[in-house]
Amino acid sequence: MKTIVTKIDEQNIDDKALEALKEAGEIIKNGGLVAFPTETVYGLGGDGLNPESSKKIYAAKGRPSDNPLIVHVADMESIKKIVKELPDAAYKLADALWPGPLTMIMEKSDEVPYETTGGLDTVAIRMPSNKIAAELIRQSGGYIAAPSANLSGRPSPTEAKYCIEDLDGRVDMIIDGGQVGIGLESTIIDLTSDVPMILRPGYVTQKMLEDILGDVSIDKTILRADSGVKPKAPGMKYRHYAPKGDLTIVEGDPLKVTEYINLKLAEHKENGEKTGVIATKQTVLKYNADVVKCAGSREDEEEIARNLFSILRQFDDEDVSCMYSEAFADTGLGQAIMNRLLKAAGHKVVKV
Ligand code: AMP
Ligand code: MG
Repeated sequence: MKTIVTKIDEQNIDDKALEALKEAGEIIKNGGLVAFPTETVYGLGGDGLNPESSKKIYAAKGRPSDNPLIVHVADMESIKKIVKELPDAAYKLADALWPGPLTMIMEKSDEVPYETTGGLDTVAIRMPSNKIAAELIRQSGGYIAAPSANLSGRPSPTEAKYCIEDLDGRVDMIIDGGQVGIGLESTIIDLTSDVPMILRPGYVTQKMLEDILGDVSIDKTILRADSGVKPKAPGMKYRHYAPKGDLTIVEGDPLKVTEYINLKLAEHKENGEKTGVIATKQTVLKYNADVVKCAGSREDEEEIARNLFSILRQFDDEDVSCMYSEAFADTGLGQAIMNRLLKAAGHKVVKV
């Protein structure tokens, strides 16, 4: 399949851009697939109400079909058709945080095929704020099922070039809307349990949700591997974001962390391995690795979130076989950063 790549500037959606989005919308309405930018990461979109489209999404990504897709909408009215009922909590959260990086799980209506929900009776719904995404949803009939636009297991794409790397020839169109703003996938909150529960941490933090809803719990498997207990979001059980090499997270007093990592780097180098480190502005000059990547300043977690997935991909490009990362705080946005890092490392953590 020949993949069309189209550039659109989110800040200037002119007639030409609208024309391209209309074409992309037609592709989706006709059962095709389009990768597009959102504020979190790039999504791989198909018609969420068409079971054949969802099957195509799984095939294009090589994604296990029990890992449900998020349905993206452009307005509140559209949701009524795809849920059994719209709970009060959904209105409250939507008022405060939509459009934006939050996904809500609700009971699905019969309009949503099981192919889209991975066989579940619930549906995940998000209203993205990216203007290209919003217009594409409107042009596509209102319901775009979209997981992240990467091959299954690889880091989510934060730039169109990574979608091209993974999906060229496997999808009908890729819309290049530049680098995304957030860089980590949406926070997922389940509204079907008695106490709303965070199934995946993201830019919207537990504190932000509690300020709106009161009590909010968090799926305990998110931060620490707990063999035997399955995460509630089916996708969270899969190894993910994994670089080709071996990644270890080192936690503890900052001076000791640097010391430990440098010690290990020397050992690996002796064995002829190519080494890498994920560092911060505060420590970037202290490491003796072949490839040292600075994720950003420790004081600026948003910067670290934005850079993380791209760094993991760059290690692959440079054939690094052995990597270390400093740990980050597991509160606030750090919780989402640590969750993705832990999955990339297969939960390999050393405490010093
Ligand atoms: P992705 O779009 O690639 O970030 O993946 C979507 C995530 O949402 C996966 O982790 C899914 O397991 C999760 N998800 C989607 N729908 C549901 C649902 N109905 N219940 C629980 N988790 C869901
Ligand atoms: Mg994904």
